[in-house]
Amino acid sequence: MTTAFETAALVREGKITAEAAVSAALSRIKSADGEIGAFIEVFEEDALRRARELDAKRKTGAQPGRLAGVPVALKDNFLFKGHESCCASKILKGHRAVYNATVVKKLLAEDAIIVGRTNMDEFAMGSSCENSSVQITRNPANTACVPGGSSGGSAAAVAAGMVPIALGSDTGGSIRQPASLCGAVGLKPTYGRVSRCGLVAFASSLDQIGPFTSDARDCALALSVIAGHDEKDSTSAAEPVPDYLAGIEDGVKGMKIGVPSEFFVSGLEPQTARLVLAAAEKLKASGAELVDVSLPHTKYAVAVYYILSSSEASSNLARFDGMRYGYSDAGAASLAEAFEKSRGAGFGPEVKRRIMLGTYALSAGYYDAYYTKAQKARTLILRDYEAAFAKADLILTPVSPTPAFKFGEKAADPLQMYLSDIYTIPCNLAGLAGISVPCGNTAEGLPVGCQLLARPFDEARILRAARALEKAQG
Ligand code: GLN
Repeated sequence: MTTAFETAALVREGKITAEAAVSAALSRIKSADGEIGAFIEVFEEDALRRARELDAKRKTGAQPGRLAGVPVALKDNFLFKGHESCCASKILKGHRAVYNATVVKKLLAEDAIIVGRTNMDEFAMGSSCENSSVQITRNPANTACVPGGSSGGSAAAVAAGMVPIALGSDTGGSIRQPASLCGAVGLKPTYGRVSRCGLVAFASSLDQIGPFTSDARDCALALSVIAGHDEKDSTSAAEPVPDYLAGIEDGVKGMKIGVPSEFFVSGLEPQTARLVLAAAEKLKASGAELVDVSLPHTKYAVAVYYILSSSEASSNLARFDGMRYGYSDAGAASLAEAFEKSRGAGFGPEVKRRIMLGTYALSAGYYDAYYTKAQKARTLILRDYEAAFAKADLILTPVSPTPAFKFGEKAADPLQMYLSDIYTIPCNLAGLAGISVPCGNTAEGLPVGCQLLARPFDEARILRAARALEKAQG
């Protein structure tokens, strides 16, 4: 697949048309997605029409944008005006967006062409896409395996070469984990780096939007387009947006990379450990210095995350009451019954589990024992990272304790599934930036990603190191 960087350059120079670029993606989707199931819906006509409009505009002499003619996919929790946006949930079936998410506006302003919406775990709750009410998605590297989640459709679409850029959301790892399992680059920017206006909220103190791409350069390009302050999202930061492509080739000479001992323990699959540590050695050979760092409160991260994210979700998802959006039970005799029946039939089992867990943690009498306690532990985890970043510029860890697993392997045991987020969750709790970069395959041919974490708003450094790693790996 041609990268976004190359496609945009070719379209801008008039060497190919946007229509040709989009048609190529559409035909790749047609041939590959029957087996993979990355897309819930492909906006074929709409995408071709927009591509032709862009070609016509170019002919009049207008200079196309930074993503001219680049096919982009959106996870099913982004609002794209006039199109369905359902979070892979029955409760939102038929829900059409009445406005564009800020990231969608930014993509369109740079002449990207949105080609479809991708599968996900319902309301972004899950790590395998098995919680989607619509379909399963298969891992392009091995179709007997899950693609990861919750943004598994976006990861698979990029890994299978259907689109060069797909957007996802990451609350506890939903960009980095599927990127690792499918073999794509996936970036979770700093909390506040990208506006979340028009992203359906899961856990508002953790959610962040980011791109999937096939390499670090495309990732830098995509982030340069979507980042920035937005008056419609009060949590978006005023921090200026650098050109993330500018210093990306500068290498890692002199960079201090922390390797936390707590992350390389039993439970980490041995081939994964080997590949991630080999990536650290390659960065060292490229001029970085490896330093030991300690993150002692990591062991509390999963418990803290599932209390806080479920608490926030129980509140955010209260708006899906069968009255305002999507599915509504027609047979109810009273308003209370309508709420109950619509929510009862509309939400899947994992979403209900989180709503109950969160409602319990927030209820009078338990609030201090669970919610307040978890907030305190969150602060301790944040302080671990502040101390580690006093010694290191970046922190290198695994992304997922195992490579892609088989369908059904963890679905019956929620706790097993939750534990697979152990390496990605702390980044969200501490509001940091983190990326997953492919660092090789297991003997069985399953991709493994290496995670690089940085201080808030230091995405440029992450991208520089990711690029250096790609070069070192050839
Ligand atoms: N797997 C985690 C969960 O189920 C993370 C999800 C996410 O980042 N959206 O909550």
